[in-house]
Amino acid sequence: MDRRPAALVVEDEASVRGLLAELLEAEGFRVEAVSSLDGARRALDGPAPDLVVLDRGLPDGDGLELCRSLRAKEATRFVPVLVVSGRVRVEERVVGLRGGADDYLPKPFHPAELAARARALARRAFGGATPLASGAIRLDPDRHECWVDGLPVVLWPTEFELLRTFLERPGRVLTRDFLCERVWGHAAVPTSRAVETAVQRLRRRLGHVGGRLETVRGYGFRLVEEPAPGY
Ligand code: CA
Repeated sequence: MDRRPAALVVEDEASVRGLLAELLEAEGFRVEAVSSLDGARRALDGPAPDLVVLDRGLPDGDGLELCRSLRAKEATRFVPVLVVSGRVRVEERVVGLRGGADDYLPKPFHPAELAARARALARRAFGGATPLASGAIRLDPDRHECWVDGLPVVLWPTEFELLRTFLERPGRVLTRDFLCERVWGHAAVPTSRAVETAVQRLRRRLGHVGGRLETVRGYGFRLVEEPAPGY
């Protein structure tokens, strides 16, 4: 049985819809993505999702209409709703929050911010994200803390997001482009040199386990898997 929390994405712009789905999947959600209010209503005939990510400008109406109808129904009253909208004026945001949205993220958004807000909302609904671990490395996304061999390691936000990205995909080769998008976002695309430098810094911070962040020449990097200590 699939025990992942379910997210419903309602966004008519295909590229944004794809990005939202990808980001939420990386956060551990099972994602259903639709492009209209009508599609959303059909999706909501099934079991209530654990999170709704909602655009406002949809071909068949304002996303807030859906928000209001979610709030009006017993089964979906408490489903967290994150509105992601190009309507960025303060008044628009207030309208959104009054309309029943739990959070309002202006477009264009930074992937890391979307991920953080989605996590925060789901956490409110579930009470706690699972810490990530691989061998001697442990990372708690909620507390923004990292340990190696049980000792705290101080990381800058970029390093933290980088490590988190690796821990979520142990053993997989991650390209520089993927890491750029995931950690730095579309807005400020760093050079591949910057990614290289950030990985090198992260390696140093991780001390004797830093070598597990392997460079895969011509592709990118991967976190080499290691059995958990004591096994
Ligand atoms: Ca739209």
